[in-house]
Amino acid sequence: MEAVLPYGFPTRRVVLAAIKHESHTFNRYPTTLDLFRRQGYHRGDDVMLAFRDTGLEMAGFLATAERFGWWTRTPISASATSGGRVSAAAMRDFLTVLGDGIRAAMPLDGVLLALHGAMAAEGDDDADGTILAMVRAIVGPAVPIAVTFDLHANVSDRTATLADIIVSYRTNPHIDHVPTAVVAAELLGRAMAGGPRPRSVVARAPTIVAFDRGRTHTGHGPMIDALAEARRIEREDPSIWSVSLNSGFSHADVWQAGPSVTVSGTAAPARLQEVADRLMAEGFRRRREETIRLATVPEAIAALREGRPGAPVIVAGYTDAPGGGAYGDATVLLRAMIEAGLTNAAFGAIWDPPTAAQAAAAGVGARIAVRLGGWIDPAFSGAPIEAEAEVMRLSDGRYVHEGPYAPGTVGSFGASAVLRIAGIDVIVATENKNILDQQQFKIYGLDPARQAAVGLKCMHGFRAAFEPVAAKVVSCDAGGLTTYDYTRLPFRAIRRPIWPLDAVE
Ligand SMILES: [Zn+2]
Repeated sequence: MEAVLPYGFPTRRVVLAAIKHESHTFNRYPTTLDLFRRQGYHRGDDVMLAFRDTGLEMAGFLATAERFGWWTRTPISASATSGGRVSAAAMRDFLTVLGDGIRAAMPLDGVLLALHGAMAAEGDDDADGTILAMVRAIVGPAVPIAVTFDLHANVSDRTATLADIIVSYRTNPHIDHVPTAVVAAELLGRAMAGGPRPRSVVARAPTIVAFDRGRTHTGHGPMIDALAEARRIEREDPSIWSVSLNSGFSHADVWQAGPSVTVSGTAAPARLQEVADRLMAEGFRRRREETIRLATVPEAIAALREGRPGAPVIVAGYTDAPGGGAYGDATVLLRAMIEAGLTNAAFGAIWDPPTAAQAAAAGVGARIAVRLGGWIDPAFSGAPIEAEAEVMRLSDGRYVHEGPYAPGTVGSFGASAVLRIAGIDVIVATENKNILDQQQFKIYGLDPARQAAVGLKCMHGFRAAFEPVAAKVVSCDAGGLTTYDYTRLPFRAIRRPIWPLDAVE
């Protein structure tokens, strides 16, 4: 239907919402509503105020809606760092707030949702699909729904059936939240204009790994090639609206975990499926091709020794990445840096709330005996570091991204401290956060560019902000829950057979 503005222009009524979580189902801590509230939870007009002109999807939704003159409502935006399954209570809250918001905004012409695509809740292996099913049940079959996904989405069949339009990120590190949202919003506008109705299909292959794990920062490899092919198909066939390559999220024991290709458009379903199947088959064929090899800890230390103040070597502890759902308390890399006697060195961050509180109680300048990190599951994270530390700085841990990764994002380590252990300044945090922006060091007076050696916890996201100031960047396997050794993870629900757990050709 067309609402009519007082000055006579027809407009469209659209609900914009975001509910994003990447759920590491082997992480034993549920991601609670309280955690979402601390990290990113807004309702109603507050969503608009919080995200307008930021680097996140909602900003792209809002800007496009404004450009097209849509009437909008923004019932909810909820996101939290990757972690254990979303609690049942949080999931209930999301469904209630979004459902009520949509009902209050009816009648609608369209719905725009920013999801992660790899959200699992307690008792629900396909939380994104559950959200879509509820939205579809409320708005009915005729109203188009467009969805954005992280390219680490694990897309279920139900999701593909329910979403008319799917658009995933095309960069990793993900620096295209806004362009992705703009594409999805423009395609929704196209669907709302009438004509043939778009639909989505999904293709999967029997593998946990493909498309170079979604890497684009190396500038070559299976993901880069697949993205080029996807753009070519979209250009040449106007009935194919969006081709998305999802490398998937492998640390989730759910049936649909792993890579997928989704294709949305008005072409015949068989044609859509043929495109998805073909791209997925190529991804499967090249599944062993990876553009990054993880260094061992000794290799990482050898690289760090080459760093000089002003020309730092940066080592990412890839396998204890909070952004991938790891605990962020792993000590293996930090211990090796301490034992190597590195100086002019910084490390961010160790998730250890008790030690952060201990430092705050002791005060700046105090020397304290700490038992740092390794407090959740030493089998993955390594034993705690027992050392004497000087409290260099205390902070409320709040920062605002200033680099290319989601600029404007507000985050917080919570009550936090910098502890100097031997020659290394270590950020000790109350909130478990991925390192994505230099501000996460700078708020503590630590300038990564002026260090000789920097250790941090992240997979890819840090590269956009840190590569420009680094003499060298190395990714390292230093233990942790985001390991690629899948035999260490007790998969039960994922579909079988699946490579590399099973021999599949
Ligand atoms: Zn991702």
